[in-house]
Amino acid sequence: MLTVAPRGTKDILPGMINGWRYVENVMREVCREFNYQEIRTPIFEHTELFQRGIGDGTDVVDKEMYTFNDRSGRSVTLRPENTASVVRSFVENKLYAEPMPLKVYYMGPMFRYDRPQAGRMRQFHQFGAEAIGSESPVVDAETILLAVTVLKRLGLKELKLKINSVGCPNCRPQHRKLLQDYFRPHLAELCEDCQSRFDRSPLRILDCKVDHDKPFMAGAPKITDSLCDECHDHFETVKKLLDEASVEYEVDSTLVRGLDYYTKTAYEIQYSPLGAQSAVGGGGRYDGLVEELGGPSTPGVGFAMGFERIILALENQGLLPETKDAIDVFAVVPDAAAQADAFKTVMALRDAGFSCDMNQIDRSMKAQMKQADRDRARFALIFGEDERQRGAVMVRNMADSSQQEVKLSEVVSYIKKAEV
Ligand code: AMP
Repeated sequence: MLTVAPRGTKDILPGMINGWRYVENVMREVCREFNYQEIRTPIFEHTELFQRGIGDGTDVVDKEMYTFNDRSGRSVTLRPENTASVVRSFVENKLYAEPMPLKVYYMGPMFRYDRPQAGRMRQFHQFGAEAIGSESPVVDAETILLAVTVLKRLGLKELKLKINSVGCPNCRPQHRKLLQDYFRPHLAELCEDCQSRFDRSPLRILDCKVDHDKPFMAGAPKITDSLCDECHDHFETVKKLLDEASVEYEVDSTLVRGLDYYTKTAYEIQYSPLGAQSAVGGGGRYDGLVEELGGPSTPGVGFAMGFERIILALENQGLLPETKDAIDVFAVVPDAAAQADAFKTVMALRDAGFSCDMNQIDRSMKAQMKQADRDRARFALIFGEDERQRGAVMVRNMADSSQQEVKLSEVVSYIKKAEV
């Protein structure tokens, strides 16, 4: 086990890091355009935060959390998602005293004891954004646009946006009752999980993967038919704003999302070429969450998307950048006597901002030139004996194989000039 990473985790090796950073940079850039600032919260929190925030009875809380007692016996949990932590921070730091809405984004590892498969990990990474403090449907539409813009800018097409409204504490009880009346005669046919959902959260029966294809599921009452006036108008405005922004979407009245805190708008973005794990992101409005976590009644809306699935999709499409950046200079060192000159020159070039490397293992000139090629160096500095006697070095332009002898004291300015 010593040399095996825990099941459901994965190293992000140097060969993949450029891809990850490229994705992160696009996300940061889009967040800047949308005026969202980064927030970083702890990776573990008190367990109650998630029990309260996500909700006992959800799959995440009941089956998937990495919960343990720390050395003083306190129960802590590795965060399975970041919204509850952001809201905790909002309340704890009294960010509600600042101009509203607070618009923040985050990226980082999340932990869920899930059954690992392609696109489903136990340590995975999310990018997400939250806008807290506005009940305007404009913010719902804005967060959806933020998510869609990131994915489109990365080059992903074939995206499917599904939206729904899950109502609010005014209209949901009535819909709950309609659903219970509808499912009661079928109770015995439902899976065990759905039987326990029947009392606690009948809405979530619609989201069940096991019962999904049972014929009676399709006929279940639609929540969009039970919305109160406020929720109905809110949903209509969100749709209108998406229309205005030419964002295509599909209203899916079975979409409920796995977490308890959602109100009104709920959405999911799918990328079908990913197959079984096609959801790349999802989110919605959570107007009750801040109060639930001890803050003043404050509305909020946000989403999260999964890095691993995005990277997988980009990889499949050949949309990730080169695995390694090219370097400017590689120093070829034929013998130990040249080492000090090469080291000094490489350091001077690095100080001037160039990306440089030098030979560091015992190998032939030919093998060293090969390394310069592999590093995609623009120049090779060849520290041959004859040139060294003259206080100089041979500079080889790797693109056209032309060579020129340059005084050691002038190498930096030579490379600088060659840059323009
Ligand atoms: P959720 O918080 O469950 O709505 O998840 C939001 C997004 O995070 C999903 O659409 C996935 O892209 C990603 N995600 C959730 N769980 C996992 C997981 N176990 N492994 C990889 N990605 C995940």
